[in-house]
Amino acid sequence: MHFHTVIIGAGPGGLACARMLADHGIQTLIIERHETIGAKVCAGGITWGGLISRVPQDLAEKSFPVQHIITRLQKVRIEEPTPIIATVNRVKLGNDMAQQAIAAGAEIMTGWQVKGIKGQTLIIEEKNSRKKQEISFDYLVGADGSNSLVRRHLGLTSNKMGIGINYQINGDLQKMEWHLNSRFFRNGYGWIFPHGNTVSIGAYVPRSVMPAQQLKKGLIAWAKTCGFSLEKEQARAEYINYDYQGWKFGRIFLIGDAAGLASGLTGEGIYPAIISGEEAARTILDPEHSTAVMAGLLRKHRLHSRMADWTGASPTFNVIAGEVVTLGLRYGLIKFSKLEMAV
Ligand SMILES: Cc1cc2nc3c(=O)[nH]c(=O)nc-3n(C[C@H](O)[C@H](O)[C@H](O)COP(=O)(O)OP(=O)(O)OC[C@H]3O[C@@H](n4cnc5c(N)ncnc54)[C@H](O)[C@@H]3O)c2cc1C
Repeated sequence: MHFHTVIIGAGPGGLACARMLADHGIQTLIIERHETIGAKVCAGGITWGGLISRVPQDLAEKSFPVQHIITRLQKVRIEEPTPIIATVNRVKLGNDMAQQAIAAGAEIMTGWQVKGIKGQTLIIEEKNSRKKQEISFDYLVGADGSNSLVRRHLGLTSNKMGIGINYQINGDLQKMEWHLNSRFFRNGYGWIFPHGNTVSIGAYVPRSVMPAQQLKKGLIAWAKTCGFSLEKEQARAEYINYDYQGWKFGRIFLIGDAAGLASGLTGEGIYPAIISGEEAARTILDPEHSTAVMAGLLRKHRLHSRMADWTGASPTFNVIAGEVVTLGLRYGLIKFSKLEMAV
């Protein structure tokens, strides 16, 4: 089998890329190792400003014009006229994006894992039957997440990683909360993101400042102080890659987490995945396509990485920076959107 463009991974990045290519008549195939699309460890928070035009509003489970930020010294409530963040179910988001890509003409093979890359050919294996097959391509897009095979094939390392741990528990809450508590999370944070009839409770921290087991312990202890008992709940954890080292390598592209485009500061990765997926598609369609959008995304990414590095290097600076930024948000000197990846 031969396709003009093969995309590995049906996350938001791969699906956005496929839809745009197929919309322009490009023969596009996505290969996804899981049988179902979208079942990803995630808090499901999407920033309104950046994603409203790309994600249908009826996919939002709950939307929040009010954000609560709790530090060790302050409790701040921020309100804007329109929702700042909405929560989505990743399976519903994935299915919606997959339907759009298929309607545009893209093909999706689920339950097939890419095992190797040899020149312009992929070796893929059906997970149930272990049947192997080869697929050749003109262009390859690595949309295969934080442990990307395509990234490794290109010889790139992934040293700057964040750890995200999520508990999805039953409950119908209304307040979206961010807890910048250095005692539990160093320069990371804990979150409470209400969904329809569940709540995502979790924490993020750069891996360099804290191992996963310590983060999990801190998360459980912190959640207890907020009235949640997580000991018997199921934790799900994954790395988030923010080690950006390039996205265009001849006829091979890396997008989203595979490119290390998530925020090192917050772990936000859905928006960068979708934007870089679309920009990779535009560049495949027209190699002269302007790099302005990617340049804007990369500026934001660099700023977030630097802030993660600085706050990770000095606990004192971390506490001061957290309190100052929260104070800025409180008095309207800093807009919440400045902390988002949307440009
Ligand atoms: C706990 C946690 C909470 C998070 N919360 C948020 C949040 O609230 N908001 C936000 O914006 N971001 C959040 N993120 C980050 C976000 O989930 C990712 O940045 C985003 O999903 C990246 O999208 P992607 O398309 O690049 O890759 P992914 O969504 O990771 O998709 C990659 C796909 O590739 C497939 N794949 C991988 N290898 C192969 C292979 N060899 N063959 C075939 N298929 C393969 C995988 O199965 C997967 O479906 C969170 C992450 C974690 C861990």
